[in-house]
Amino acid sequence: MTRIEILTIFPELFDSFISCSLIGKACEKNLLSINCLNIRDFASAPHYHVDDIPYGGGAGMLFKPEPLTAAIEDAKKRLPKAKVLLMTPAGKLFKQSDAKRLATEEDFIFICGRYEGIDERVVELFVDESFSIGDYVLMGGEVPTMAIIEAVTRLQNNIIGNSESLVDESFTTTSNEQVLLEAPQYTRPPEFRGLKVPETLLCGDPKKIAVWRENEAIKRTQKYRPELLEKKNEH
Ligand code: SAH
Repeated sequence: MTRIEILTIFPELFDSFISCSLIGKACEKNLLSINCLNIRDFASAPHYHVDDIPYGGGAGMLFKPEPLTAAIEDAKKRLPKAKVLLMTPAGKLFKQSDAKRLATEEDFIFICGRYEGIDERVVELFVDESFSIGDYVLMGGEVPTMAIIEAVTRLQNNIIGNSESLVDESFTTTSNEQVLLEAPQYTRPPEFRGLKVPETLLCGDPKKIAVWRENEAIKRTQKYRPELLEKKNEH
């Protein structure tokens, strides 16, 4: 069973994430448990502040160390062996290979930043890995947390339901060690608004179809992500 604690100042953002779709089903079946902690609940009276101004000046606020530390330590009481993951644009770019590696772990604590981020000493004391989900800056770590939970749990515990659908996916290494984006896909009807499904997909010959898919995948990868073709096997 995969157990997750999420540290955030907006736990409401996770309500439907936890109850809907495959994540919701996995929670219902006790394959997954997700608990949200509100970092504000660990702040002290009288002001219950979770943030403070940065040393050295500069714009914005940072999570101060005390409430965040108290929240991490509370989560660790339930999940003492959990990997502590920080969401930050200043982290390592999260890849499918990280999802695969993390899918072999069971317990996770996610720290969702807000404002300009968190005091670095908390990173030093508690964080095992810092991840960015892409080269852009979001408002908070909640969406990156959801992205990583989906990427990891869909590789775990039959949560996705059909492990075959994991085989030919984008970023999955093919038999000849290539990392490709997925080929275009079609469902019924065979013609829609004048556009026909490529003939090969209707021919019924699995070998021909496989060749077509691989060629299309290469074309698409060349167009959108040529760097994937250069660096073999990094995903
Ligand atoms: N001052 C920071 C940006 C803060 S954005 C910087 O320049 O690096 C506020 C929070 O949103 C971050 O603490 C982080 O938790 C989250 N966040 C924003 N963009 C992200 C990204 N690309 N990947 C992961 N987390 C991100």
